[in-house]
Amino acid sequence: TYRSYQHHRKPAIYVTDTSTQTLNAHTSELDRAHVFHSWSAQAALRPLVIAGGLGCRVWDHDGRSYLDFSSQLVNVNIGHQHPAVVQAITEQAALLTTIAPSTANLARGEAAKRITDRAPAGFNKVFFTNGGADANENAMRMARVHTGRDKVLSLYKSYHGNTGAAVVATGDWRRIPNEFARGHVHFFGPFLYRSEFWASSEAEECARALHHLERVIQGEGVASVAAILLESIPGTAGIMMPPAGYLPGVRALCDKYGIVLILDEVMCGFGRTGHWFAFQAYDVVPDLITFAKGVNSGYVPTGGVIISDAIAATFDETVFPGGLTYSGHPLAMASIVGALDAMEAEGIVENAARIGRDVLEPGLKALQAKHPIIGEVRGVGVFWALELVADPATREPVSAAVMARVKAELLGRGLLPFLMENRIHVVPPCVVTDAEVAEALAIYDEVLSLDLLA
Ligand code: PLP
Repeated sequence: TYRSYQHHRKPAIYVTDTSTQTLNAHTSELDRAHVFHSWSAQAALRPLVIAGGLGCRVWDHDGRSYLDFSSQLVNVNIGHQHPAVVQAITEQAALLTTIAPSTANLARGEAAKRITDRAPAGFNKVFFTNGGADANENAMRMARVHTGRDKVLSLYKSYHGNTGAAVVATGDWRRIPNEFARGHVHFFGPFLYRSEFWASSEAEECARALHHLERVIQGEGVASVAAILLESIPGTAGIMMPPAGYLPGVRALCDKYGIVLILDEVMCGFGRTGHWFAFQAYDVVPDLITFAKGVNSGYVPTGGVIISDAIAATFDETVFPGGLTYSGHPLAMASIVGALDAMEAEGIVENAARIGRDVLEPGLKALQAKHPIIGEVRGVGVFWALELVADPATREPVSAAVMARVKAELLGRGLLPFLMENRIHVVPPCVVTDAEVAEALAIYDEVLSLDLLA
């Protein structure tokens, strides 16, 4: 049992007297009293207590465990508490726990080399950040300096992070209360299931979406557009698989108009799709690649920009106007080295590809055949979305109340889900086993069999 790992116990450093209540209750009380949570109205929040984890499971202090089919915020690609990553962090901590980004450091060089080794030819430099949002901030800034142009084009349905320019690039409601909104333009991407272009095939959706983008570029003024910023596969907004020709078509428009193509691989990169980078499944090479999450599975906060030689050359003589105290933090760098080496040695990216192709896709499609509430199943690797609809004909999304019920029923059966709007995102760690997928599919099946629309 998971109790044998003892992680549910109180570590000795926490000295609070808990003799009168359980550790779970004590943790909840501390959280309620003193922790201010992201993206939430605070009053009604009762966050789940998580005390420990291993592989695809997490558990609380009382020994109640959950199958983690969220990978937290879709970042724990290598699973929880991978021993090689924990050891890399521990060894680096004993050696040096912090050093300025202006120094040369072995862990940082080793991490950068492992990242560029997996990128396409002609990408040899990495700029490290604290996470995904600031990776996008810095990529946009590089593109603006490189081109001498101002505007960045991105999708309405996207998520690029919650800092000044990154949240403006995010196209939905989240960009509204932002004082830095300048030089950003949004456009519609391809998504046949809810087509903005009245298309009836993937090829038509692709052609019309590319036509729309070219008209936006021309309308904004070709000489003003610095960059197009896209998630290779938009994640949070719905795991919307682009048609085969879309990213190459965007690349061609960027070449035609001298625009920098930034692909945001923060969520879809480092194994999630069964490739090191999601764009590798498409015939496209960007100019800048942003990453975070899966690169070290979030064991220590980090992210960055992988820079093509052509853009890197701009900064041979021009100062790059950017930097952060914790860029390339040694503990983060050690965790990248540990994570990427273990992923390589253990075939973890290949596992994600196989699980997606042989287990998740057939399993989820079988669920769709059985449950009309599943309007569409789409994805790849360990990156899948189930679109829940009140009516398969009209594709009307299920209500927030239905989703709240789905969440409670899944949690009650020991599955920690990732839910967005009317969707279940099926996003386990890349190390997930056949048996764990079978367990999760049985739980989804049971919950979707309930009379949810009543
Ligand atoms: N880009 C994408 C595609 C993301 O999914 C996210 C986070 O979910 C971000 C950027 C922001 O990353 P972070 O939260 O590490 O700043």
